[in-house]
Amino acid sequence: MNKKNYTKIVFSLLFTVVLASCGTKATEKKENSVRPNIIYIMADDHAAQAITAYGGIYDEYAQTPNIDRLANEGMLMNNVFCTNAICGPSRAAILTGKYSHKNGYYKNESGGQFNPNQWTFPEELQKNGYQTALFGKWHLGSEPRGFDYFKFHEGGGQQGFYWNPVYNENGKTVTEKGYATNLTANFALEWLESAKDKNKPFCLLLQFKAPHRNWEPDTKYVDLWEDIEMPYPETFNDDYKTREKTAGDTDMTMDDFNRKDMKLTPPKGLTPKELGEWNRYGNKRGEVVYPDKNLTPEENRRWKYQTYIKDYLACIKSVDDNVGRVLDFLDKNGLTENTLVIYTADQGFYLGEHGWFDKRFMYEESLRMPFLVRYPAKIKAGSKNSDIVTNIDFAPTILEAAGIAKPDEVQGDSFLKNLEGETSGEWQKSMYYHYYEFPFWHHVQPHFGIRNSRYKLIHYYYNVDVWEFFDLEKDPNELNNAIRNPEYAETIASMKKELKELQGKYNDDKSLDEMRAITDTDFGKVSNYKGGEH
Ligand code: CA
Repeated sequence: MNKKNYTKIVFSLLFTVVLASCGTKATEKKENSVRPNIIYIMADDHAAQAITAYGGIYDEYAQTPNIDRLANEGMLMNNVFCTNAICGPSRAAILTGKYSHKNGYYKNESGGQFNPNQWTFPEELQKNGYQTALFGKWHLGSEPRGFDYFKFHEGGGQQGFYWNPVYNENGKTVTEKGYATNLTANFALEWLESAKDKNKPFCLLLQFKAPHRNWEPDTKYVDLWEDIEMPYPETFNDDYKTREKTAGDTDMTMDDFNRKDMKLTPPKGLTPKELGEWNRYGNKRGEVVYPDKNLTPEENRRWKYQTYIKDYLACIKSVDDNVGRVLDFLDKNGLTENTLVIYTADQGFYLGEHGWFDKRFMYEESLRMPFLVRYPAKIKAGSKNSDIVTNIDFAPTILEAAGIAKPDEVQGDSFLKNLEGETSGEWQKSMYYHYYEFPFWHHVQPHFGIRNSRYKLIHYYYNVDVWEFFDLEKDPNELNNAIRNPEYAETIASMKKELKELQGKYNDDKSLDEMRAITDTDFGKVSNYKGGEH
């Protein structure tokens, strides 16, 4: 073959290859444009009151500009609620689209391992051609399924560590140097970099450990608000009148912080066992930590609140920074338009409201999950929504966005249409809640209840028999249990009826004794899972 002919053949071959690849690219591009990428970002215990887009008493001091971007460029949802407001159970409900009594994951303490054989939305996406990955907090014991790649926190019962965290990376234990929030985002961004060019959409679960107890900020944010006194929530001095046996009988007040929470310096020369005990002092009733013996009890309460809230908000600074890095990545790679980005938390949290930290109660601060969502292809920028949505509705919504039907066993419903501004008249007007863990941690009585757009009815049934009823319009802080107020008798009767109907609808219509037995059952520990059968 002479040189001229050779060049001709090479050129025509090249031309064919280029044409063919153009053809493939065009088809794939079309396919991908109807199958969005999904980035599901979930922080741990991040209350809506600590996100500027929701407004609140910290707005002036602690802004969340990157998280807020999702509301400015997408939708802010005001009534997204958790069905069982603690870490593991909420995560299990989100993955399965089902209540705790259906997915079998009721409690953190003695809650066992999540049954990995059951249906989850990431595995469904993976089966349907999505690249899938999980980074950060998992906290469900058994090894994740349905992910091409995972790297989740081990150590401390899978709570993980803020500094030099230990991860389970695709089944291998690795220790990394640095601050958990930054590291988790680094790993997620590295994976996104590798996923973005493959001709398949991706689904990333980026689940920060922060701002979970014991609230250790990055070094650069430790002293951020040193000279400021943070404002106190209106209900900081709640006296628990009309709620004595429930809200008035917990271990989550300012008196229940331990020395480690308060970052007190231990004495020198303690053995590891002694150090552990020293740090945990404060956990038991009657143990009250005093940083300075000269403080009055009231001054001590305030000092603890200031220490707690500044550390909590400083942890969120790092979460917000890293959300910004993810959004920048999408912008730089032209992926913003076709990526559904969700920011939420596994439940809400008390930031001194009712004099508390922690969660669990069906009261507003822990029931409400922040939920900001951006998907420019479908969601109008700057929109707001107040439909009642719960965490079992997340999975069907993500699936519908990906064009996948939910299986019948999923109890939640897709709110994709609601995001597009077209809420159906049939959409749920109330939600059902059920919490089980007792007495550890924090001594919150097991309860179930119903909330609609105005009222809330709760039944605490374990070793007390207390009903509470709140008119959220007249009493948004839930200070006045109006269960015996004759003005509400009719509303209460109809809500009791609806509560029964919801228990029937969701198959949670067991006897109270059967429910108590769940609280009493030790299902095992979430510990460092060492592999084994799926
Ligand atoms: Ca949590």
